[in-house]
Amino acid sequence: MKQNFEIAVFEGDGIGPEIISPTVAILKKLAALSPDYTLSFADAPAGAAHYARTGESLPKASMDLARSADAILLSAMGLPSVRYADGTEISPQIDLRKALTLFAGVRPVTVRAGQPTPLNMPDGKEIDFVLIRESTEGLFYTQGRGEVTKDEARETLLITRDISEKLFRFAFNLAQTRKDTGRGPGKVTCVDKANVFRAFAFFREIFDAEAARHPDLIADHAYVDATALWMVLKPWDFDVLVTENMFGDILSDLGAGLMGGLGLAPSADIGLDHAVFQPCHGSAPDIAGQGLANPLAIILSAAMMLDWLGIKHDNPAMTADGKRLREAVEAVVATGKVLTRDLGGTSGTADAADAVAAALGLV
Ligand code: ATP
Ligand code: MG
Repeated sequence: MKQNFEIAVFEGDGIGPEIISPTVAILKKLAALSPDYTLSFADAPAGAAHYARTGESLPKASMDLARSADAILLSAMGLPSVRYADGTEISPQIDLRKALTLFAGVRPVTVRAGQPTPLNMPDGKEIDFVLIRESTEGLFYTQGRGEVTKDEARETLLITRDISEKLFRFAFNLAQTRKDTGRGPGKVTCVDKANVFRAFAFFREIFDAEAARHPDLIADHAYVDATALWMVLKPWDFDVLVTENMFGDILSDLGAGLMGGLGLAPSADIGLDHAVFQPCHGSAPDIAGQGLANPLAIILSAAMMLDWLGIKHDNPAMTADGKRLREAVEAVVATGKVLTRDLGGTSGTADAADAVAAALGLV
């Protein structure tokens, strides 16, 4: 029996609509050819332009759709020119993260042979690791609510047992899947600052308890400062890294830097029941509406979505399509003939998306 999955589509602002529309087109073609699953898509209006028009950045109908859908594909949201009355940026993606308890921010970092990177890669080495950033608490817990007086400012670092247990379970399960599919050795590194902060010693204790439940996987610890060093010197040694919100925020930009920038950096925010898949980059208003934006980061995010749905619903054909989609993007980058400007080429959004479809044999 074919399984059907409903995808909530947040096309967002700036380059958002331009990059999500060819992505949905590719997903439709892939699903149309599959005997094992179908996909349906429903638009969820939200974001800065929507706020400017209606006074609402995340309407209830869109929130309800996000809640009921099997997965959420989200393009970029927010525009520097449109702000809430208090001056902060419009960011429905953060509201979704909180409302749906999407505690695991998943940021794969991959550099394949032929992919531009600022590192000098030794022959035969590739980078392929996943950084998991806790996304609901940590040092972002008091975000916007820090205490500031004339002479002092304070923010709170919150680590809870409940979220940490879920986070580490997710990390070990991911390492197991990567091991089973030959993508990694089955190693999870807890990145913290347990030598200085009691909160991180607590974090590490919970990590160790989860590690004890996975005797076939390797559990490792690293301090965040050393991790920054090793991400530059020997990133090919990492498999799954798991860390607190602020540390993860910083290290994921370092990871995107290793990949040669934001153009190829996908991400997912995953909880127990829901997940949002989106590129790491923003809405790039400087190039919006010109057909210049690189669609590869959101296409890679869509590949992660197929992967996640396939594993969650025991639909291996879907996971296999996720892998094919990722490999098609990697082939386009390695061939280097059809690249957008951010990757040093001269092609536009449609050409790049068409090249991926061609690599998949869809045209
Ligand atoms: P946000 O706060 O939403 O993350 P930001 O200020 O970090 O936004 P981005 O919107 O990510 O900024 O853009 C940063 C730079 O990268 C801009 O010059 C933008 O044009 C470029 N950029 C971002 N995404 C893409 C893309 N998909 N293709 C090409 N260039 C991009
Ligand atoms: Mg940014």
